Amino acid sequence: MDAKDLLRRYLEQRRELGESELVLDGLHVEDVMRLLGAAGKSGSPSQAPRSIRETATAGTQDWRASLRDAGVSADPPAKNDVPVSRRMSFPDVSSQASPPTDEIATVFKKGIVVARDDAELIPGAIEKLRSLDEIAEMVRKCTRCDLYKTATKPVPGEGDPKAELVCVGEAPGAKEDETGRPFVGQAGQLLTKILAAIDLTREQVFICNVLKHRPPGNRNPLPEEVEACSPYLIRQLELINPKVIVAFGTFAAQTLLQTKTPLGQLRGLVHRYHGIPLIVTYHPAALLRNPAWKRPTWEDVKLARRILDSAPRS
Ligand code: URA
Repeated sequence: MDAKDLLRRYLEQRRELGESELVLDGLHVEDVMRLLGAAGKSGSPSQAPRSIRETATAGTQDWRASLRDAGVSADPPAKNDVPVSRRMSFPDVSSQASPPTDEIATVFKKGIVVARDDAELIPGAIEKLRSLDEIAEMVRKCTRCDLYKTATKPVPGEGDPKAELVCVGEAPGAKEDETGRPFVGQAGQLLTKILAAIDLTREQVFICNVLKHRPPGNRNPLPEEVEACSPYLIRQLELINPKVIVAFGTFAAQTLLQTKTPLGQLRGLVHRYHGIPLIVTYHPAALLRNPAWKRPTWEDVKLARRILDSAPRS
């Protein structure tokens, strides 16, 4: 079988597999050149292989001619009508410099944005914070999402750094935003009573939220805000290493447990968060709206109390 037949068979196979464009990257350049009968022009197979870009550029005219002979269009695509990935991988790359970064936003169609341009890929700095005070300090300067622009005060959390129980809520509300302290509004007053019902004061526990800045108008937190902010919560829990975590409300529960399971199905169970027992219960604000949930909340916090009374710290 000669080179053209081999090439035709190869192209037919690709077409049967559903491909409509020819991308040569998957083949070694030397193999393609051999298929095209152009190996001699780009160096003998026994020589050390040259870089793909170098070899492909040297052999460009030959493979285009051979492709044309084989009945396949081999003209380079016009600059603006091929996707970026193809443009970058097309053999004739030497004449197509990538646009400068600041032009990318205007030249190409916008896709999904994962994290802000200046965000660290892995928030290493947060991981290295050694105390709750250091976390609070970093939260005060935080610009990892846009909430700092609309919030009045950050609300990093407060309480005993050695607390055996940590309460996690959703995000600061109006009163918390005004004072910089978690759970100090109406829902917070109810939380204080819930804690008192299991013989705990606010000072004995640590109280914080998933988000450390208030979302404007108390809207639901956005996924990118949770992603940006949760390293603080994770580090707080790691440093405190409590005997039990109580997640108040759907949002805190689903975020910590990385699930979409409804709160009703998460209650009454002892979950584990990196080995730490985690109890889920209603948010105090929900209890204000629906007092019938007070009884099940009482059952949930009693469960947390039993864990406190029995479990050694992990
Ligand atoms: N709701 C929360 O989830 N957290 C607060 O701090 C206040 C209200």
